[in-house]
Amino acid sequence: KAKNPGEAEFHQAVLEVVETLSEFLVKNPRYVEAKILERMVEPERVIQFRVPWTDDKGNIHINRGYRVEMNSAIGPYKGGLRFHPTINLNIFKFLAFEQVLKNSLTSLPMGGGKGGSDFDPKGKTDSEVMRFCQSFATELARHIGPDTDIPAGDIGVGGREIGFMFGQYKRLRNEFTGVFTGKGIGWGGSLIRPEATGYGTVYFAEEMLKTKKDSINGKTVTISGSGNVAQFAVEKVLDLGGKPVTLSDSGGTIYDPDGIDREKLEYVKMLKNYYRGRIYEYADKYNVQYFENERPWSVKCDVALPCATQNEISGSQAETLLKNGCFVVAEGANMPSTYEAEHKFLNAGILYAPGKAANAGGVAVSGLEMSQNSMRMSWTREEVDEKLKCIMENIHSMCVEHGKGSNGVVNYVKGANIAGFVKVADAMLAQGLV
Ligand code: NDP
Repeated sequence: KAKNPGEAEFHQAVLEVVETLSEFLVKNPRYVEAKILERMVEPERVIQFRVPWTDDKGNIHINRGYRVEMNSAIGPYKGGLRFHPTINLNIFKFLAFEQVLKNSLTSLPMGGGKGGSDFDPKGKTDSEVMRFCQSFATELARHIGPDTDIPAGDIGVGGREIGFMFGQYKRLRNEFTGVFTGKGIGWGGSLIRPEATGYGTVYFAEEMLKTKKDSINGKTVTISGSGNVAQFAVEKVLDLGGKPVTLSDSGGTIYDPDGIDREKLEYVKMLKNYYRGRIYEYADKYNVQYFENERPWSVKCDVALPCATQNEISGSQAETLLKNGCFVVAEGANMPSTYEAEHKFLNAGILYAPGKAANAGGVAVSGLEMSQNSMRMSWTREEVDEKLKCIMENIHSMCVEHGKGSNGVVNYVKGANIAGFVKVADAMLAQGLV
């Protein structure tokens, strides 16, 4: 903490890992002797840069860009870019640290990184977003490459932004390579990449339920967010026979007790991806309740899928969820549960999966996009979906293997942290003090 003052989210992410690894480290002193954990919390490289751009009226704006290249022990740096006005270096360090363990869990050869900018895409025209992305990519291009660092999307960065950044990179380098993932299907993207995080989170929830001989079928599901991850989480819940009843954005939550069906989901996709509208418009259109400035956690449910942002479930909201009978929480977002909320879920012994396990499907399919780019070929929807499902099942098995207590209850946080750590730590040991 003394070395990284004021970095609350980074401390929170590291503390969770240290707490769950401590027993394992005592039994495996070689990692302690080589100071593996101390090395893992220090980014290999942090890049910070100025991003100047002009709006449509010719006014000059200066934003700040970041890329945290956290760990490359098992592969090139890999992780998303986030454009959101609230970000800072601390947020990117927490995300990059989580990403290292998550990427390891996928079993694909990817190191961890994360980056982005305090640019706010909300309310900007396409041409403003393009000029910002081009300026951002002009500096970023020096630091990334298909075998070095491969960024992807995250909050505020979708297909549009990846397109603008990829275009600028290609122009600067005069090469067409798989340097970004999340590309369009016609220019190097992978089928199922947009769906992967949301689908993967629901596949993971289904795996957890299978351990209780249960399934998503017939379950009431609360979902937060209404962006990429949330939309495809709704879609997969519907595929598996569940009933999604909420969605949210930074303005508030809609509650649709009849369920968000496929037609309503198509409306949400148009509203959010095309018109870039607000979720309260759903409440107006379908005449359902809208809770301004509230999150979905007071709504009664069996399964909760937080898919918006970090620390969006407080300790008291976790208590409300538990009181209302929620017994499955699978995190589509990164670290959506506060430290207090996470401990409430763990102490209650419910099926609780941390983001680094439950939302790893996104980066896994990004890894598959990289493979397809290298081979200059593309797999079918079914092939990619099948691989995604296998990867999520495999992550689930690893969590059970490393997280099952003597009482039979699986601590998925512990399981994910140990399984993710071992592969990276062994690679670091083998590669010497670098
Ligand atoms: P999007 O930008 O597509 O959607 C984000 C959603 O969360 C929006 O509905 C947004 O509302 C809401 N949101 C963002 N910040 C806040 C906030 N501070 N308070 C309340 N609501 C907020 O992002 P994604 O769906 O891609 O990402 C969602 C989460 O999933 C993030 O935690 C991300 O790191 C994680 N994730 C994403 C992956 C991916 O493949 N995209 C992979 C793995 C994890 P509004 O529009 O009002 O801002």
